Amino acid sequence: MAAPRFSTAALISRIRAGDRTVLAKAITLAESTRPADRNKINAVLSRLLPFTGNSIRIGITGVPGVGKSTFIEVFGEHLATRGKKVGVLTVDPTSRKTKGSILGDKTRMERLSRNPNVFIRPSPTGLALGGVTMHTREAILLLEAAGYDVILIETVGVGQSETVVRGMVDFFLLLMLAGAGDELQGIKKGIMEMADGIVVTKADGDNVKAANQAKADALQALHFQQASDSGWKTNVLTASSVEGKGVGDVWKMIEGFTSHATKTGYLQENRLRQQEQWLEEAITALYHDLMHSAVATKEKALMMKKVRNRQLLPTEAAEILWKKIR
Ligand code: GDP
Repeated sequence: MAAPRFSTAALISRIRAGDRTVLAKAITLAESTRPADRNKINAVLSRLLPFTGNSIRIGITGVPGVGKSTFIEVFGEHLATRGKKVGVLTVDPTSRKTKGSILGDKTRMERLSRNPNVFIRPSPTGLALGGVTMHTREAILLLEAAGYDVILIETVGVGQSETVVRGMVDFFLLLMLAGAGDELQGIKKGIMEMADGIVVTKADGDNVKAANQAKADALQALHFQQASDSGWKTNVLTASSVEGKGVGDVWKMIEGFTSHATKTGYLQENRLRQQEQWLEEAITALYHDLMHSAVATKEKALMMKKVRNRQLLPTEAAEILWKKIR
C-alpha cells in the first residue's frame, strides 16, 4: 500500500481532530515495516503519547461460532448509543494464510462499521503474530489519541493469540457456548484463568436453560480457582445478542472492574507491566532483525562452513559472528 503523504504534524493534528481517514492511514503506517514509515509513525506516536491511555481496553475471545462478531456488533452499538466512541481491532493468527482469516471477513460487523462513533479495523495481513502484536499496540495508542473511549480487541480462542491479547488489555472477556462442555469448546484450562469476565452467549429461545446451567458450571469451576493478582473475582453472565439481553450487564461488569482496578492501583500497575513486556518484545524483534540481516546471513554461512571443516568451535564461531554483525 502506498505510504500516506501527510506530514508528521498534519497526521498528529488530524488524528487529534478525529479525522477517520487519517486515523486509518496512520494505522496503515504503523503496520508498515519500511524504515521510513517506521520513523514517521514513531515520531507521530511519541508526540501523541500524552493523549493516550484514557480508554478502557477490552479483549474479547472465544471459539469460532461462539458469537463474537454478533456480540461486538450489539455491544458496540450499546456503547455508541451512550455517547462512547468505540474502536474495534482484531488479532487474527490466521490472517496471513492465503486460505483466509477467521476474523477478517469484510462482511462482519457491517452495521456497526457504519456507526459514526465506531471505528473498525481488521487484523493486519502479512505479519506473523509477533508483528501483529506490536502494530495492534500502536493502533490502540492511535485510537486513544483520536478520542476513542472503549477499545475492543477481538481474537479467536485458538492458538496463542489470546495470550497475546491478554497482554495488551485491561479486561479480558471470554465468550462461551452453553451445553458444549469444556473439551468440546476447545477451552483450555488456562483461558478461563485468564478471563476477568465470562459471558455465556446465545441465551435465548430453547437455549436459556442450558445457558443458565453453563453459567452455574463455570461459576463452580471458578470457585476453585485462585484469586487473580487484580483481586477481582471473575464474574459469569449470560447474554443474547439476538435479543439484546444481558449486553448492558456486561458493560456494567466492566465498569465495576474498572472502578475496582483504579481504586486498587491494579489498572495502572498492569499497564506498566504491559509497557515493560512491549519493550522486551521490541528488543527481541530488533535482535531477530539483526540476526536475519543480509550481512548476518552471509557471515553465518561462512561460520557454518568453518565449523563443519573443524576450523572453529561453534562457540568461537558464534563470538566472531556476533562481533562482526554488532
Ligand atoms: P464468531 O465466529 O464468534 O464471530 O460468531 P458469529 O458472531 O459469527 O456467530 C455465529 C453464529 O451464531 C451466527 O450464525 C449467529 O447468527 C449466531 N448467533 C450469534 N449470537 C447469537 C445469539 O445471541 N443468539 C442466537 N440464537 N444465535 C446467535
